[in-house]
Amino acid sequence: MLIGIDDTDSTAGMCTTFIAKELCKKLEVIGFPRLIRLNPNIPYKTRGNGAVALNVKTGNNEKIKKIVLETVEKNAIFEDDKTNPGVVFLEKRNFEDYNIYTEILRDFYEKAISELVTIGEADAAARQVNAEVHKFKSGRGIIGALAAVGADLSADVTYEIIAYRIPKNYGTERKIDPESVFEMDKKTYPKTFNNVDLNLNKILILPRGNDPVFCGIRGESPEIVSEAWKLIKPLEEIEDTLIFQTNQATDAHLKKKKISELMPFDCAIVSGRVSGEPKNIHGGHVIFKLKYYSQEIDCAAYRETANFRKIIRKLRAGDKVTAYGGIGKYWAINLEKIRVLKLKKYYEKINPVCEKCKIKMKSEGNGKGFQCKKCKKKLPEDAAVLKEINRDLKPGFYEAAPDARRHLSMPLVRMKNRC
Ligand SMILES: [Zn+2]
Repeated sequence: MLIGIDDTDSTAGMCTTFIAKELCKKLEVIGFPRLIRLNPNIPYKTRGNGAVALNVKTGNNEKIKKIVLETVEKNAIFEDDKTNPGVVFLEKRNFEDYNIYTEILRDFYEKAISELVTIGEADAAARQVNAEVHKFKSGRGIIGALAAVGADLSADVTYEIIAYRIPKNYGTERKIDPESVFEMDKKTYPKTFNNVDLNLNKILILPRGNDPVFCGIRGESPEIVSEAWKLIKPLEEIEDTLIFQTNQATDAHLKKKKISELMPFDCAIVSGRVSGEPKNIHGGHVIFKLKYYSQEIDCAAYRETANFRKIIRKLRAGDKVTAYGGIGKYWAINLEKIRVLKLKKYYEKINPVCEKCKIKMKSEGNGKGFQCKKCKKKLPEDAAVLKEINRDLKPGFYEAAPDARRHLSMPLVRMKNRC
């Protein structure tokens, strides 16, 4: 039986993966539990917008369901307005089983990671596949719960090992030997990724909230993440660790679209030309207009993307680019990364050199031509020499700083290794 759970955490604490961990102790789970990230642009998400799914050995199904629902009720943060848990039960042997149900579920998952999905749509899809749905409060969590059960990870999959704190440490500063994290990164990167930001000398594996998670290490295989965890020196007691199979760092949320096809909260890959110069806007963000024929949209590199903004500022009108990102609160693509395909050539006019005297001629004023100071020879304006301006930017991929990276965003290092 497949079980999907979502939206049990809150901005203040808890974590849906913790409930998965509790259930792994109580039930006979087959294979790895899943941690499925959903559309990061949805405004009513709690924090990471992650749902979990488990494949549990069937037996006394009513008892299994009771255990799951009780565990959710015990651990979910119901006081938080944004916490609206949902649980889905689906009688299927495994996640990959191909049948008509799988197709409906896969389509639903594809939509839930890259577009806006309603509770009504989730209800309809659940009915079509005979899934049993349990809603708490508004029940928005059934969207993620159903998507997590239906996620198709056959094209790409990553793993995350999550270490959990003991309850008395919840809310306190996480204690870790920082050197061990850099050491682990050195030994396992790029098979593990998003561990540290070497530019800022910053550790990224520790979450910031009050939740039970001590740290999470992401990587290409269950073996590498567990090896990486062994290299970490936590300076506090760890309750447990659990490895999840995930859609993190896979770009599964990004779909190729034209500007005219974009809808609010879509995640997309959009190509076009830069129109107009990038602008710095209030708050430290940088925006530019992307144009494809008569269609136009703003693209934004937020302050949090750090050095990425320096690249965006170097773009000029006419450059051909592909933008990777999603539409958030404002009608603009929040850039996760960008591919510079072709730079437009820009030239500056330089005064010509006098053939006889071998010195640079002087401008007679705007549009009035040139004169040699020495021999007084005159040349018309079109004698000016055109020199290509060095753009200080090369075609290629550029990405947001690791700290600002979306869970679903594929780091460039992974992209390279997959090509
Ligand atoms: Zn001269």
